[in-house]
Amino acid sequence: MSDIIKILPIDVSNKIAAGEVVQRPSSVLKELIENSIDADSTKIQIIIKDAGKNLIQVIDNGKGMSKNDMHLSFVKHATSKIVKIEDVFSISSMGFRGEALASIASVSMVEMESINKKENGNYIEIQGGELVSERESNIQEGTSIKIKSIFYNVPARRAFLKSDFVELRHILDVFHRLAISHPKIEFSFINNEEEIFYLKPQSLNKRIISIFGEKIRENLIPITESTQIANISGYVLKPEFSKKSRNNQFIFVNSRYIKSQFISHSISSSYEGLLKDGYHPGYFLFIDIDPSKIDVNVHPNKTEIKFDDDQNLYSIINSSVKHCLGIYQVSPVLDFEKNPSMDISYNQIKSQPVNPSIEINSDFNPFEIFNHSEAKKVHEDFSDFNKDLELEVGDNKHSKIFQILNKFIISTNKSSLIIINQNLAHQRILYESFLKSIFDNTINSQKLIFPIELKLSKKQLLLYDKINDDFNSIGFDISIKKDLMIVKSVPYGIEKSDVEEVVENMLNEDFNISNDLSTSDFFAKRLSKITSIKSGQKLNLDEQEYIVNHLFSCKEPNLSPDNKQIFITLSKNDIEKKFNG
Ligand code: ADP
Ligand code: MG
Repeated sequence: MSDIIKILPIDVSNKIAAGEVVQRPSSVLKELIENSIDADSTKIQIIIKDAGKNLIQVIDNGKGMSKNDMHLSFVKHATSKIVKIEDVFSISSMGFRGEALASIASVSMVEMESINKKENGNYIEIQGGELVSERESNIQEGTSIKIKSIFYNVPARRAFLKSDFVELRHILDVFHRLAISHPKIEFSFINNEEEIFYLKPQSLNKRIISIFGEKIRENLIPITESTQIANISGYVLKPEFSKKSRNNQFIFVNSRYIKSQFISHSISSSYEGLLKDGYHPGYFLFIDIDPSKIDVNVHPNKTEIKFDDDQNLYSIINSSVKHCLGIYQVSPVLDFEKNPSMDISYNQIKSQPVNPSIEINSDFNPFEIFNHSEAKKVHEDFSDFNKDLELEVGDNKHSKIFQILNKFIISTNKSSLIIINQNLAHQRILYESFLKSIFDNTINSQKLIFPIELKLSKKQLLLYDKINDDFNSIGFDISIKKDLMIVKSVPYGIEKSDVEEVVENMLNEDFNISNDLSTSDFFAKRLSKITSIKSGQKLNLDEQEYIVNHLFSCKEPNLSPDNKQIFITLSKNDIEKKFNG
């Protein structure tokens, strides 16, 4: 008897986190590849058409299924992976809910072929959850499953699928995560008839390089740590390779890709002092932990995990990352002057974020940071500023400005003190001017004397292909030669050193290309974010004045393009209240 699938008893299925697993083509692909991995396949082929909207096919050489099991596999709560709820706590397979195929089949057209050692091969065809045909098949090994026309019978959901650019990016993300966590499996990925990836069985670092390209090689720092609680392995990326996006962050627990704020935080804080403001480290971190010490039954998509001992895990990860960064001599010198109260305590990481409030540091002495003549000047500004605050509404002649903490510009207006976030203010100014030039069709392009050559990963190449017209319409002049992107002109305002960042960011955004308005808005936002003056940058008086004057001639000076508050005001009353309670 080679049937192995059983329907879970009601009391077991009721305890399993339920919910919709089929959100988009990439979620289907994830479930299918996970099934192939669970079937002990050593070779998996993926065939995608039209970003998965018309075909997602996965062919494996795993253990296959009997005819009976092929039928059962599409029944809700039918699984060969657990029989009782306790099994979930010792789970080593990717799946266990017995729901994926049933949900997928109910919203698409499915063809499955499979062969089990003891039987001939079989073929079954299912539409909208109903069996429509079956016959013998001459399939030689494993299982092949085709999902055609996802959501064909749920038009509202089909209409909600995003552009091919966005759906393909999700598909590639899913593929990357599974291929990285299973480097010993051979993968081939065919997109619209073209083989995009062929990955032979290899070591983890070779797998990472095959996917992300050669340029990542010299940035990989190995990490290994064995403790009673967990074993940590994988690679972290050198601080120089940090990005403004969090794209290069991969956490796997027992080979399962997961998202975890506290683990990400633990890793990022190990990099403290090594990264520029707004940059995020990259890593491929593998945590191996006793399955009984975690709970994967938190969410149907299984990317969330609960850990029994998260406090200790936090410190273990934090110190192992610091340790390996230290070994590679990229760790910061210990800063004994650092105020420990600036550290975010572990408890706060878990709490809900609250809107930041402004705290006045009564010990702050602005003269400390300047030399004597500067100090004198600031002192004069301060007296003027005091004068301003004494003035009645209506008199604005003595407005003076200065910068503090290399982050904020202090200015006065009538009887108020204004504290402006320089970065957000500049984003707003640039955003409005970019939008204006996009709409007026006046994007000024600057020709680069030396074109910039960027090596793109396969994912980036595939995605660029879908939005190259948009790039060129905003002032880029770009051509592609094999895996090289050659940038000959860039929109005015973009520094040469920003080009790589701009390109990478553009390829990372969830924007719908069919919609002109959101495309321009997206480009304007992105460009303004990337090219703006950053926090931490010292500004001279002209620059400070430029920011203040231009900010207040914007259409919407209060909010940044991402809707963050740009400045706060303290009125005379507010200030007096602070003193008198
Ligand atoms: P789960 O993976 O949670 O058990 P699924 O609905 O994904 O639920 O799959 C149902 C069952 O079908 C699995 O338990 C497995 O026995 C069988 N199955 C699915 N895909 C394959 C495959 N590629 N090879 C062998 N068996 C498979
Ligand atoms: Mg499954």
